[in-house]
Amino acid sequence: MREQILVLEALQKIDMELSELEVHLNDYPERISALEQELKSSKEALENLNNQKQELTTLKSNLENEVSENEESIKKSEEKLFEIKTHKEYQALQKEITETKRSNSDLEEKLLEEMEKLETLENEIAKQSEALASKEAESKEKIDEYTLELEEVKNSYEPKKELKEKTLQTLDPEIVPLYHKIFDKNNGEILAVAKNEVCTGCYMNVPAQMFNEILTYTKIIQCPSCQKILYTEEESDSEAKTA
Ligand SMILES: [Zn+2]
Repeated sequence: MREQILVLEALQKIDMELSELEVHLNDYPERISALEQELKSSKEALENLNNQKQELTTLKSNLENEVSENEESIKKSEEKLFEIKTHKEYQALQKEITETKRSNSDLEEKLLEEMEKLETLENEIAKQSEALASKEAESKEKIDEYTLELEEVKNSYEPKKELKEKTLQTLDPEIVPLYHKIFDKNNGEILAVAKNEVCTGCYMNVPAQMFNEILTYTKIIQCPSCQKILYTEEESDSEAKTA
């Protein structure tokens, strides 16, 4: 029976390693996709700014065209002033010129505002591009690292599973169902040390007679409280007690 305890001990160890590998099998892909998602959002934000820049640039060039068209029209009207015969016509044209000049100065003011916005935006784009570049480098490094680690986890998972199967075959067939039952109930913790008539798995008392049975290793003894299989660690200690 002591050998079976050793098999169980080995199984418990393998199972704990397997569950850790399983955690990483999920963990690494999640971390990788979180990094990729983060990068994607940063790229989209930058793309958004570049679209805004595109719109502002178009607006700016439209305003510039309007301003220069107005300047052209003012120039033509001013030339026409010399050819005008009547005072009334002169006044009307003069009024038109003044109005065009006023509206043009409004346009120029607006143009200036848009140019300032554009400059602010370009600064922001430069800043975010730089941040994205360093983030990209950093994320790539991490993604490579996680990918490598994930590969290692994948590589060790199957052999570990095979080792578990092999080890299970060395377990007394009568114990196998019990092993699975306890495994499911206790998240892979199968064994508990019984010490001084206490189960160290759940810290409940183990009846004295049961404790003595554990020491003899003639059969599998389960803790009455947590159902884990009990064993003792120090043989000399137990011998002293049974004596
Ligand atoms: Zn217990």
